[in-house]
Amino acid sequence: MIFFDIDGTLIDHASASAAASLSFFDHFPGAIPFSREQFPAAWEEILNKHFNRFCRGEVSLWEQRRARTREVFAAPEMDEKEADARYRVFIRDYETLTRAFDDAEPCLQSLAGERLGIISNGAREQQIGKLQRAGLLHYFSVMVYSEDVGLGKPSASIFLEACRRAGDASERCVHIGDDLEADVVPSRALGMRGIHLSRAGKSPVGPPVISTLRNLPALIH
Ligand SMILES: [Mg+2]
Repeated sequence: MIFFDIDGTLIDHASASAAASLSFFDHFPGAIPFSREQFPAAWEEILNKHFNRFCRGEVSLWEQRRARTREVFAAPEMDEKEADARYRVFIRDYETLTRAFDDAEPCLQSLAGERLGIISNGAREQQIGKLQRAGLLHYFSVMVYSEDVGLGKPSASIFLEACRRAGDASERCVHIGDDLEADVVPSRALGMRGIHLSRAGKSPVGPPVISTLRNLPALIH
């Protein structure tokens, strides 16, 4: 089976997150202790810090969302209800802004006849929503999310669970992702064919590396 990562691979998370973070900033005038210019980068850094704790199984999905919100407002005492309400302001904008990369659907169409799957650290419901709105959900027959195994990439367990559900040995599976440490290194360590999607065209690892999903079908066939 050929597995895909979602964010940064099929879906342009970074653009949506940056735009949604500015709407979020404007929604709470004077309440966020960053400059507007600094905020998208600060938001992403804080998001990644707490999301990575979730991927390591240290906190629940909602706990990391609350921790992220409290840190952004420099308000450690903020109660759960308020933190959840503020998080929802962000997620509403973010979800309307996520789009597939232009090369995603042509690539998936070219792979017709192959069995395709998803291995993603993101929250299942949110990730399925992104694929659905982008019209890509129907391509995938197996989907494994970090919450299904309690640990995210780069943990071996999420890759092994995906191979198990596919009914394939890891050596018969391919994984394509944009993150070297989360996607490429661990999948290759398990014997999967780990393909690095390096949209910037610079990858520190050996082949197979592609700079666009348009080059994937030729690599597979
Ligand atoms: Mg990614």
